[in-house]
Amino acid sequence: MPMSKPILIIPNVYQLPALKPSCNCYLITGEKNTLIDVGIRENRDYVEKQLQELNLSISDIDDMIYTHCHYDHTGAGEFFSHSTVYAHPLCQDKLYYQEDYCIHALKYRIALPTRIPDSTLETNDYYQNGDFNFLVIHTPGHSDDGICLLDVEKKLLISGDTVFAKGVPPLITNSGSDASLINSIKKLQQYDIEIILPGHGKVDHDGNNTLIKTQENIIKRIQKNNKKTIEEAIQWQSTKY
Ligand SMILES: [Zn+2]
Repeated sequence: MPMSKPILIIPNVYQLPALKPSCNCYLITGEKNTLIDVGIRENRDYVEKQLQELNLSISDIDDMIYTHCHYDHTGAGEFFSHSTVYAHPLCQDKLYYQEDYCIHALKYRIALPTRIPDSTLETNDYYQNGDFNFLVIHTPGHSDDGICLLDVEKKLLISGDTVFAKGVPPLITNSGSDASLINSIKKLQQYDIEIILPGHGKVDHDGNNTLIKTQENIIKRIQKNNKKTIEEAIQWQSTKY
């Protein structure tokens, strides 16, 4: 399968096409080189090839950030032994215990992770690289350990598996819940967001509307299992926060 070239999203931000079923990987350049998610173990060569297109090598990746623990986001992490790896504290613990990831990896007969994050990022922490200043937001829902990275000034959201283009709601995996996901989407709706860089699928350029659609689609999904109307569900949420 031919490898596509890195896609420039905005200056210093690239999407690196990856071997399926890997997630989308994103590279932020500037002061240093930051890779956000790395894909399945077998994606290593893809990442290397994409980096070569940009005159970089695996050893040039200073920092790596995992949006959550799943194998399709973290599997190739072990090949980046010289990078500092960041993730939410729960993600760090879960990779250590091989919980959650382990279930998925075993299901697909994929090797277990060997690279545990070195450092943690929690809500209200900032991660900086050159002109980029990413606010970390814990966004449980798809899983319990997800984070989104938001550059408030650039209105740019790196959303992991929390938000996808056009508001397609993410799957709920064994540690997640729709209730948590709705709360996470509400947290994100406090900000003005234009570009969403999701963990799977296409880049979205209609961020605020996509968050509204995501919320509606989650409520529709919940409705299948109960008798609440959308109006009732929205009313219930408005009393909560
Ligand atoms: Zn996931």
